[in-house]
Amino acid sequence: MSLKNCPECGKVYLDNPAEMCPDCYRREEEDADKVAEFLREHPRSHIDEVHQATGVKHKIILRMIRKGRIVGDVNIVYPCESCGRPIAEGRVCEECGRKILSQIKPAEKPAPEKREDQAKKNSGMFTTKF
Ligand SMILES: [Zn+2]
Ligand SMILES: [Zn+2]
Repeated sequence: MSLKNCPECGKVYLDNPAEMCPDCYRREEEDADKVAEFLREHPRSHIDEVHQATGVKHKIILRMIRKGRIVGDVNIVYPCESCGRPIAEGRVCEECGRKILSQIKPAEKPAPEKREDQAKKNSGMFTTKF
């Protein structure tokens, strides 16, 4: 058991799986209900619309998405973490996802080297034969 500072209100609380104090946890539960209710009537809303309609902070809405609290037939659109384009799943859009992947994975060996070899071989054949 350890004491932590609540990331929401800064109050000291006893560490728990929700990772926030009981007051904020209860408030987040209420916020989650509000967001879920709004999305039932307005599926595929942008996160800004949800925020304006419910007053729930973007941070909290995004956290609920990541925790899988908002699932099923409800599709919330929120900005890509990399370019800000609206997306409906994951943390970044498809394009940024591809970019990130290509940065992690080393590029495949380029072909030109091979083509050069081939050309040398061909010209070599020509010069020795004729
Ligand atoms: Zn708190
Ligand atoms: Zn993006």
